[in-house]
Amino acid sequence: MDVKSLILFGQKSLNNITDTPRLESELLLSYVLKMGREKVLACFKENVLPADEENFKLLVKKRQSGCPFSYITCHKAFMGLDFFVPEGVLIPRPETEMLVEEAVKMSHGEEKYLLDIGTGTGCIILSFLYYNHKSSGLGIDVSDVAIETAKKNALQFNLSDRVDFVWRDYNELAFDGEFDIVVSNPPYVKKESCKNLYFEPTKALDGGSDGFDFYPGLIRKAYKFLRKEGILIIEIDDGMEQAIRNEMEKTGYKDIEILKDLAGLYRIAEGVK
Ligand code: GLN
Repeated sequence: MDVKSLILFGQKSLNNITDTPRLESELLLSYVLKMGREKVLACFKENVLPADEENFKLLVKKRQSGCPFSYITCHKAFMGLDFFVPEGVLIPRPETEMLVEEAVKMSHGEEKYLLDIGTGTGCIILSFLYYNHKSSGLGIDVSDVAIETAKKNALQFNLSDRVDFVWRDYNELAFDGEFDIVVSNPPYVKKESCKNLYFEPTKALDGGSDGFDFYPGLIRKAYKFLRKEGILIIEIDDGMEQAIRNEMEKTGYKDIEILKDLAGLYRIAEGVK
């Protein structure tokens, strides 16, 4: 088959799976052919090798089964960086970029020591360190594959000398006033909504019956880990804002702010120790 027919085949096959079937088909073919999308589109009439055609059709089938696009290519763009993301690790979300932007803004280009709880691909801490050259930090996670992935990403962005990643539950950390900034995107999806998750790790998303399970402990522990005037910045779900504010006030945080994302949903909570 030629390039054009394959792209049309992919587009048709992915119609019911995604809002952007044409784009995904083009990108999948570029991935198989190891060529940029523009280059693929420039050779519409050329024939594709049978092995590449077969491979492309297999990937289209995988995508048809609901596998997220990022798990097929093992890549996801976040904060202008190209993150490696294998199956088993949460795919970075565009709305989380706001958390990083907020952390970078609050750091004023100064040297900060940052803790990222539940780091996953490392997308939050690594992009923070990428945009704040003076800072360093620690990322923890309770998933082996996440720690391995985050280390790999640190290496590819040349950040390994400014960040450590360790397998650890935050409840087992013995820090006391060391960190300038604590960030986290904890699991906050309601258990009920996690039933239909077949590809992404439930552990990274399931926040219990109301999605709130992780916050009270996280907010309290982070307070202990932060130095005086240190800042907590966390991702939350819309609808939780009042409960989060209460929890933060109760713990002793001041200057609490809850920010909305571009979709107008409450997404980020921050407070100062
Ligand atoms: N925003 C993510 C989603 O809705 C949830 C991320 C999380 O639980 N931390 O898929």
